[in-house]
Amino acid sequence: MFYQCPKCKKTWQYPLQKCPECFLKLERFESKNLKVIGISRVLIPSPMHPKVPYFVLLLEDENGNKFVQKFTPYRTGGSDAGAMKEYKIGDRFEIKASQNKNSVAIWRAKYDLYEAISRVISLLGGLKIDQNKKILILPTLVSVCHPHERENTHPEVLRELIKILIEKGAKAENIKVAGQSHSETPIEAMAKKSQILSVCSENKVEFLDLGKGIFKRIEKEGLVFEISEEIFKNDLIINLPILKLDSKLGVKGAMENLIRFWKKENFLGQKYLYGEEELILKLKEVFSSFAKASEDKPKILNLADGTIIQRSNRQAVILDLILASFNPLNLDRVFAEISMIPLPEYLKSVKISEIPISGREIGEVQWQLEKI
Ligand SMILES: [Zn+2]
Repeated sequence: MFYQCPKCKKTWQYPLQKCPECFLKLERFESKNLKVIGISRVLIPSPMHPKVPYFVLLLEDENGNKFVQKFTPYRTGGSDAGAMKEYKIGDRFEIKASQNKNSVAIWRAKYDLYEAISRVISLLGGLKIDQNKKILILPTLVSVCHPHERENTHPEVLRELIKILIEKGAKAENIKVAGQSHSETPIEAMAKKSQILSVCSENKVEFLDLGKGIFKRIEKEGLVFEISEEIFKNDLIINLPILKLDSKLGVKGAMENLIRFWKKENFLGQKYLYGEEELILKLKEVFSSFAKASEDKPKILNLADGTIIQRSNRQAVILDLILASFNPLNLDRVFAEISMIPLPEYLKSVKISEIPISGREIGEVQWQLEKI
């Protein structure tokens, strides 16, 4: 992605507000054809690049714009897991989308959240959105905290997502942002302090307390799940968790956030009997059984905020990633692999080699987040 002044055609690799000479808003343009024009092979590991060897490729697009990108030759997951791919000077550099509904898309969000969110959506094959489509977004809302503490989904991530949905044709009145408090704290207080509420009002999008709505009883495996009716009333659900590392659950991400669709009293009662890890796996089964869309894609898209994440000691650390998948458990498994943490029980059943990865390879973005 490059940013260009429409008048003087000066080009930047990062988004400036305005061209410093013409004071005009820069326009985004995406490179269409990338060619490898230089290769460095790195053999010495460093804290942020623990796996070697890796390559730093110098790429050039059709307009002569150049940039460097880290590249790891090992495929971690999918049909070509374990395969090696190396580039030679003059090769075309391609990033392929995946139509597999279990794949996980990974992209860097260094300067431009809008670009990273659009990119992971298109890496999964895109979303069909029209003005009648009813969309429900579920950010992480668990504490009354400022955005910088990374307790809740960052408001910028929600802001850019709503912008993308509206540009794709969605109407603001058909988009809702939802949450449910599983504690004594009212959800409105969390939505306000986290600035999620102000993003809703600036976009004229309704904020909904799921706890005040109707829940549908679903019986599965001898358990009763009371799940918010909103899942059935909307055409597309976007689960928008912030990723965290957690001393008990290992990963708090897509699966843990989906619990907010579960009625508080019903969930807390079951949690007392079964424990959270077991319930996460059971909930996955419930969701896979009813969350199939009538069309070709599953109904729930999981889009994870991995820009700055909380470690298990609650310190925030930069990761600069956006992850997306139609499979929430696969998304959490990939995040555990990226963070190089010991796997919690509930993620051990998910084999990383069976998850197709698109965008950036796991090895390119992996680092020991708990040890830095
Ligand atoms: Zn200019």
